[in-house]
Amino acid sequence: MTGPGGRGARRGTRGDEAVIQALLSGPLSAKTRVDAALGPLTSYRVGGSASALVVVNDRGEVAALCEALCSSQECARTPVAVIGRGSNLLVSDDGFAGLAVMLGPGFSKVSIAETTVAAGGSAKLPVVARASVSAGLSGFEWAVGVPGSVGGAVRMNAGGHGAEIRDSLIDAELIDLRNGALFSRSNDGLEFGYRTSSVDTAELVLGARFELSRAAAAAGSARLAEIVAWRRANQPGGHNSGSVFSNPDGDSAGRLIETVGAKGLRIGTAEVSRKHANFIQADDDGRAADILSLMAELRRRVLERHGIELQFETQLLGFDEPDASDDWDPRAAGNACGAKDARGAGNACGAGDARGAGNACGAKDACGAGDARGAGNACGAGNAYGAGDARGAGNACGAKDACGAGNTCGEGAAPADSGGCADGNGSR
Ligand SMILES: Cc1cc2nc3c(=O)[nH]c(=O)nc-3n(C[C@H](O)[C@H](O)[C@H](O)COP(=O)(O)OP(=O)(O)OC[C@H]3O[C@@H](n4cnc5c(N)ncnc54)[C@H](O)[C@@H]3O)c2cc1C
Repeated sequence: MTGPGGRGARRGTRGDEAVIQALLSGPLSAKTRVDAALGPLTSYRVGGSASALVVVNDRGEVAALCEALCSSQECARTPVAVIGRGSNLLVSDDGFAGLAVMLGPGFSKVSIAETTVAAGGSAKLPVVARASVSAGLSGFEWAVGVPGSVGGAVRMNAGGHGAEIRDSLIDAELIDLRNGALFSRSNDGLEFGYRTSSVDTAELVLGARFELSRAAAAAGSARLAEIVAWRRANQPGGHNSGSVFSNPDGDSAGRLIETVGAKGLRIGTAEVSRKHANFIQADDDGRAADILSLMAELRRRVLERHGIELQFETQLLGFDEPDASDDWDPRAAGNACGAKDARGAGNACGAGDARGAGNACGAKDACGAGDARGAGNACGAGNAYGAGDARGAGNACGAKDACGAGNTCGEGAAPADSGGCADGNGSR
């Protein structure tokens, strides 16, 4: 495992190794890269490597992938992550200890029959939008400015300009990577919510069908041009992943972030866009840790000022991997992106390593904690954003706010503060 800020792959599990060996010795050997850099596959352009990356380009290769994953006794132990166009992903600087899976260009076909558009999982959304307009169809124009893939958009129920994937989707074809089961899931079965769906981590969307309506191609082209112009005027370029937070009911995350004076706020290599406050831009040589700390700081400020807990829209990868021997169920936690075991925690996104915490029940917000090994008792901690290292803290009950604490090893009671903010426990 590399240290904080490192760029290598995390050490894999025994499951990883068995599966990677199966891949390297089978028909996908030429399609498998060990210690594969994930940062360049994302729009943030930050983050470390996966234990291995496999790019599958046809159904035979998908079947071979499932075979390699499932033939191993260690199948259930191998963390798997699907990467689309990486436009909504933040990968940890430490990388991802597991197998990253991508669909190649063989899954990018778009075909149109009457008013039905069928698109492969790796098809680019702007391509689908333009193809449907050229065919005299309307209903997908909104996607022209969203730089994701069809698979990623189905998983995220992507949307914009008053429409979203669920409005036109008929069904999607998926494969469960853990058992090779191929199946179709209807619009209802996908259980779309705001930027959510029922697509599970180990399910790969191979393609989807959309039902659009007939419209004059000229009107569609004008709408595409309008949307592209709006994006250019209102959203930044550079390395970002679109909206960092989803909009809370009846409000906009960007507006809330502006009210706390965070436009242009910078932590290390990451900066809140001056053009759109719900976008974070990373420098050319950026670090995921800086982006995560900035996210945490924005959440802290908005919570403090408005009492609203912003929820991550950006998906976090590699900040912690579940141990499959545990009965791990991220859905049981309110918001536990990447946290290993955060049952009952309100928000525990991106906790790097919280193994062995004796008791972390009811922690409301623990974003970006780097390492909290062995904390004896952290019940009811209100907010612990960005804590660098909290090893062996004997008792941290009731600490309200410990943002950016660098090191709290072996503290008997409330954490010490080597910088940043430490509200609520009187040690600012
Ligand atoms: C400049 C910019 C503007 C954006 N504007 C918008 C917007 O207006 N509206 C909006 O909703 N989003 C927007 N986004 C975010 C992003 O483009 C969408 O969420 C998009 O749908 C993500 O697709 P992706 O292929 O990049 O997925 P990734 O970022 O690669 O992955 C996102 C999630 O989808 C999963 N996934 C990816 N592919 C598959 C697949 N084939 N099968 C199963 N799961 C898969 C991943 O595991 C991950 O959980 C924007 C991003 C940027 C950079």
